[in-house]
This record gives sequence, C-alpha cells and structure tokens, in this order.
Amino acid sequence: MSDELQNQVALVTGASRGIGRAIALAIAARGGRVLVNYQRNAAAAREVVSAIEAMGREAMAFAADVADERAVQAMVDACLERWHRLDALVNNAGLTDDAPFVRMRPDQWHTVVDVHLTGAFLCSRAALAPMRAQRYGRIVMIGSLAGLAGNVGQANYAAAKAGLVGLARALARETARDGITVNVVAPGYIETDMLATLPAARRQWALDAIAMGRFGTPEEVAAAVVFLLSPTASYITGQVLAVDGGWVMP
Ligand code: NAP
Repeated sequence: MSDELQNQVALVTGASRGIGRAIALAIAARGGRVLVNYQRNAAAAREVVSAIEAMGREAMAFAADVADERAVQAMVDACLERWHRLDALVNNAGLTDDAPFVRMRPDQWHTVVDVHLTGAFLCSRAALAPMRAQRYGRIVMIGSLAGLAGNVGQANYAAAKAGLVGLARALARETARDGITVNVVAPGYIETDMLATLPAARRQWALDAIAMGRFGTPEEVAAAVVFLLSPTASYITGQVLAVDGGWVMP
C-alpha cells in the first residue's frame, strides 16, 4: 500500500458495488478515508466499509439518492461532521434503462439523466463549499465511452454522460484558481453488474471492437481515478481520460 492519499477524505457515490467499490478500496489502500455512498444495497456498502477498516483505514457508509438535493447535502454534512474536510469527490453512481429511441419513455429519460447528470451537479455543488474553503479539491466524474461515441439503445445514458463532460469542463474553469481540479474518466466496457444484462451477441460485437479483445476490470478504472485524485495530477483539469482497452481512438 502507498500513502499518496494519506488522510485525504473522499466521497465516492455508488461505492457499494462495481467500479465505485473498486475506487473506494483503491483510495483507502493509498491512505484515504472514504464515505461509501449507496442507494439501496446497505449490506454491500457495509462490506466495503469493513474491507476498508480491515486495511486499518476509516470509512463510513451513507445511503443517499444522488438525485435528491436534500439527501446529498445531508451526506456532505455527515462527511464534514466526521472528518471536518472533503478533499475528493467521485461522481460514479449510475444505472441504465435502455430502449430504442422511438420507444424510450420520458420516465426512462428522466431517471437516467437525473441520476448521472443532475446527481453529479448536486454532489459537486455540495462538495464545492468545503473544497473552496480549503482551497483544495479534486472532482472526478465517471463518464462513459457511450457519452463520446454514442450507443444504440442508450440515448438517455449517452446524453447524460456527454453532459458530464460539459459540466466537468465548465466547473474546471470556474474552480481552477481555488485549487480544485475537475476531470472525467470514461470507461469502455467494464465487468460489473451493469454489464451483466448485455446480450451475448452484443458482448461478442464489443469484444471484437476492443483492441485488447477483453473487457476491463473495475480496478483498472479505479487506477485512473486515483491518479487524477493524487497530488501527481496537480496540473490536469478539464480532461477526459478513456479507460477502454483501445476501443475508441480519436
Ligand atoms: P453497478 O455495478 O451497477 O453499480 C452501481 C452503483 O451505483 C451501486 O453502488 C448503486 O447503489 C449506485 N447507485 C445507483 N443509483 C444510485 C442513486 N440514485 N444514488 C446513489 N447511488 C446509486 O455499476 P458500475 O458498472 O459499477 O457503474 C459505475 C459507473 O460507471 C456508472 O456511472 C456507470 O455509468 C459507469 N460506467 C460503467 C461501465 C461498465 O461497463 N460497467 C462503462 C462505462 C461507464 P446500490 O448498490 O445501493 O444499488
């Protein structure tokens, strides 16, 4: 274990499972203290907290829907009450609700955009006050290759993820002189629960298109996030870092 995030306090949304879980563990492995946000899966969040405590680090689980303004503020307040600072925010919480565009219902659109895009707005806004007071902060949005290249059946998801890039860049410009950086990590196909519903033919199509011929792991995404959260990345802001095994190359 290294200590490049020693004593830093990080809030990771959607940290009970998948990529968020790997990010929380990677931050703790580098010395950070982590607020493990989740929505419903309390047992999984508690397991992440236990794994972090087993490393000799501190963590707390907090249930909050990232699309709920009051719940988000209560979560940031709980973090500040316990640790009196907030150094890093990872906007990772997400879900999919796919449909061909002509059959996509407005509620499917709103749910996905609310969680990914409005959720990132609300969490970033709540985190900004302590970060500005500290004159230090790191925000990473978990985007997606779907937000850069589009994806069939995912108009809601692709639009929300593309929106995160604009949000990150606007915020990066507004906060750079306060010592805050804002970047996007855009995963390609990563083996998590989210990918479990992918039909077999679609899986094969994706594997054929990825230069490395395999899906990524949550840990490979977490490594990129931790880099952007670390002091080493001090001069990087407003950028999009793809972690996709060579799927989409500009
Ligand atoms: P996952 O395994 O399905 O986990 C989703 C996480 O988000 C869970 O912790 C879940 O909490 C939480 N969550 C969902 N809705 C929430 C809400 N409203 N408020 C708070 N937490 C909420 O997903 P994943 O694959 O790790 O995806 C994580 C992020 O990476 C997402 O933003 C996703 O879009 C992005 N991404 C994933 C892939 C991929 O291939 N897997 C590719 C590109 C981008 P509960 O456990 O409580 O339900």
